[in-house]
Amino acid sequence: MNSPLKNSMQKIRSVIKDIQAYQVADARGLIKLDAMENPYQLSDGLKGKLLARLGEAELNRYPDPSAAALRDKLREVMHVPQDKAIVLGNGSDELIQMLAMAVAEHDSGEVCLMSFDPGFVMYRMIADFTGINYVGVSLNQDFSLDMESTRRTIAERQPSIIFIAYPNNPSANCYNEKEIEEIISSAPGMVVLDEAYHPFAQTSFMGRLSEYDNLLVMRTVSKMGLAGLRLGMLCGHPDIIDEIDKIRLPYNINVLTQLTAELVLDNITELDQQAELIREQREVLLQQMNTQSDLQVFPSQANFILFRVLNKNANDVFESIKQSGVLIKNMKADTGLLSNCLRVTVGTPDENRAFMSALTKAMKNE
Ligand code: PMP
Repeated sequence: MNSPLKNSMQKIRSVIKDIQAYQVADARGLIKLDAMENPYQLSDGLKGKLLARLGEAELNRYPDPSAAALRDKLREVMHVPQDKAIVLGNGSDELIQMLAMAVAEHDSGEVCLMSFDPGFVMYRMIADFTGINYVGVSLNQDFSLDMESTRRTIAERQPSIIFIAYPNNPSANCYNEKEIEEIISSAPGMVVLDEAYHPFAQTSFMGRLSEYDNLLVMRTVSKMGLAGLRLGMLCGHPDIIDEIDKIRLPYNINVLTQLTAELVLDNITELDQQAELIREQREVLLQQMNTQSDLQVFPSQANFILFRVLNKNANDVFESIKQSGVLIKNMKADTGLLSNCLRVTVGTPDENRAFMSALTKAMKNE
């Protein structure tokens, strides 16, 4: 007999049922080096100002639907060219979703979203649940772009949209600039440069927006130190951004996020100094990890480091590090480019020391 629950379940698309939910590990009681967060809080001075500002928030009113003041502030701080438009998202995840919804065409299976594998998992997940074909062009062994296969895939699949994480997650490298230029020039549709890790790479396509009408640059405040706010930004040609903006749900950026981001962006040097500390610590950590035998450590232009465990099982090393009180990310791959790889976020000097001693212990374990 059919029950209301069974009937309801049957109405849910099978593609949704097949998706594995985005996994967030339980970090309670652990040093959290798994999610590329900035380990530093705002200064007490800035926190005080923030509390006062939030006290004035009119929580009974809807927020400014287009967050105009915040967009102006972001334009100034992130150097968005004057003739380009901006749309904001509840994190850049929401912007990826809006972009996918803009190109999705449910009755024809031909729409294609292209990216590179291994890459940021949300591109594939969002393609899946918006009913778009995902094509992930495999990177080379050193995580550089395989241009031959990229050219072939663009020609054959004619992707409506291409996502390029710059630097890439999880490999932490920036791709060759000339190769990216070639992709933008030869793409039949939009190309999104996802610059989530910009504060640590300090290289950007923002200044190149005027050269390519199909180029969009995406940023987030998450890795800068405001992951709890959920705020991402997409910039590009006003004609494209106007269409994306139609998909945006009204009031997607709440009052508290708007006020907080405006105030913190007014004090951006504080976050800039934190990013500088993280970049310095990344170099220290890379150097220390490189002295460990039995590790293959990949170069990083981001706030995290990918490494391969040699001669040991990465699952065991991950568990041992966790037992020592440090949570990193297990890439959980037995084969392929990420085989036996783990990823660690750069933390405070103390957190990094705790990680290094946990790692050293794990590598000694028989
Ligand atoms: N892009 C990349 C490449 C990422 O790694 C992440 C998060 N890990 C995001 C976007 C999502 O950022 P947000 O917090 O703004 O949704």
